[in-house]
Amino acid sequence: MDYAVRVSHYIDPVNFELARDVILLIAGGHIAEVITGGKVSGGLSGLAKNTLELGEALAMPGFVNAHCHLDLSHLWRQVPHGLKFHEWGPVIMAGRMLPPNMIAAGIEDAVGMMLSGGTTGVLDISVAADSLGALARHGLRSVLALESLGFDGTRAEAAMQRVDALIRDKFVLERDRLGKDAGEGAAPAMHEGIDYGFSPHATFSTSQQLYELNMGRAFGEGRVCTTHAAETTEEEEFLQRGTGPYAPFLAQFGVDVSSFRGYGARSIELLLRDWLAPWLRPENPQLVLVHCNYAREADFALIAETRPSICWCPRSHAFFGHEPWPWHEMLATGANLVLGTDSLASNTGLDMLGEIRQALAAVPDADPAALFRAATINGRKAVNTAPDAADLAIWALPGGAKSRDEALMALVTNNPPLLASFSRGNLVARSI
Ligand SMILES: [Zn+2]
Repeated sequence: MDYAVRVSHYIDPVNFELARDVILLIAGGHIAEVITGGKVSGGLSGLAKNTLELGEALAMPGFVNAHCHLDLSHLWRQVPHGLKFHEWGPVIMAGRMLPPNMIAAGIEDAVGMMLSGGTTGVLDISVAADSLGALARHGLRSVLALESLGFDGTRAEAAMQRVDALIRDKFVLERDRLGKDAGEGAAPAMHEGIDYGFSPHATFSTSQQLYELNMGRAFGEGRVCTTHAAETTEEEEFLQRGTGPYAPFLAQFGVDVSSFRGYGARSIELLLRDWLAPWLRPENPQLVLVHCNYAREADFALIAETRPSICWCPRSHAFFGHEPWPWHEMLATGANLVLGTDSLASNTGLDMLGEIRQALAAVPDADPAALFRAATINGRKAVNTAPDAADLAIWALPGGAKSRDEALMALVTNNPPLLASFSRGNLVARSI
């Protein structure tokens, strides 16, 4: 065994139930055994190579941040509040032009923020895989969804070739590329635990052809495909009729929308009814639709039929002042609800507890346990992490707690210190 960890409270990652007085045995990246009921009363040293005696503490599945843009982290506190999305977009595009060392420093800080907040898994939307090095160095389980966009369908192949070049350069190991000629010493698992996925940007910026190329690849290879959907009312207006502020917003980036009269459909209809329909099954947790702030009746029906993952970013949602997020309606669809932070260009931090607090402030009658599931085990499902993966966050729990929900609410209200966290069975954060 790699680790033996003793805690007073444990929420297991499969059924999300609470167990008391537990020893967790971790081996090979998985939770190999859970010893309960005080069967081992002595020291832990005979059980594993490394031991953590954590006492009054809550071990639970680590947070999975199902939507962030680490390559915008250098814009933390640089973007004014109160902008509409189409006003915010050009500021962000200018921010992407800043020097690479600024971008790299922002990413490094951001990964530290995530680790200190108990995040153990990340779905990062990435234009050029800039976050790869920092995520690998810190050992955080990650999927980099490689972003592509382009309104003109005739350029879809070229956009996909850029993504393929990134995959070859950054992800395919020498060993895989060269086969047995690579020899034993060739770049062993350069980025263990870091995978890639696909991210066509949004229906207002990206053609059907480019969505099809991304989706074909994602489904063919069993990978995550994630996209922004129904984020703003102005986006929905543009998609339906070609009118509103999105036309000049796109035109300023050189997109020719002069003959576009709209698709006559909303974003979620385009995706789930039309463009992606050939690939969809009864459940599609690895298709992650982000925001869906303006989902309407017909959209909920499509979501219920196809059950993708739906990602809410509560603080970013509040930053843009959108109408209330339809938590109860989304829950009723049976979709796999997940939470994300979005980027530091529209958020104050990257801690997922902060997202849960904001979610509870916005929807006071939401079930806290359902929000915690969304922030942990539902995120695992979206990024295809094994249910028993040893991705754990362990929090101090002074005073104990009598039930699972009491323990979870103690995290929300008491802001306890993170004692330790594991990603892929490795200790990635430790407070002492
Ligand atoms: Zn986003």
